[in-house]
Amino acid sequence: MEKDELIQIRKKLKKTQKDLAAILAVSLRTIRSYEQGDRTIPPHIERQLYFILSRLNGNHSTAKMCWDIKKCSADQRKACPAWEYRCGTLCWFINGTICKCTAEESWQSKMLICRDCEVFRSMLSTPKT
Ligand code: SF4
Repeated sequence: MEKDELIQIRKKLKKTQKDLAAILAVSLRTIRSYEQGDRTIPPHIERQLYFILSRLNGNHSTAKMCWDIKKCSADQRKACPAWEYRCGTLCWFINGTICKCTAEESWQSKMLICRDCEVFRSMLSTPKT
């Protein structure tokens, strides 16, 4: 995640740097250094930010599941952890999913694919008010 995206997410969440530091259990200085680009934003922070953002964006009980969007077969579903744990709107959160991400080993490489995926992009869309 680039620093501009972190700033954008913080603003979407309507949080100050201090608020975000408390939510992520890091120091205010750490948040400042992420936003200034002095420190790389680690995967666990990126994951938390996306997770919080996904919770902001409306009612997930009515959201379409990834296996429906991707039209996964019964066999694919059976082999996929997103199906196993019934996290069809959070498939981007876990590795080992069996869509295009199967062969990916790291969060960063998986996220390169997920960022272009409609499932992930729908999670980032503006919340309903
Ligand atoms: S590409 Fe990523 S966001 Fe899209 S269905 Fe697969 S795991 Fe989910």
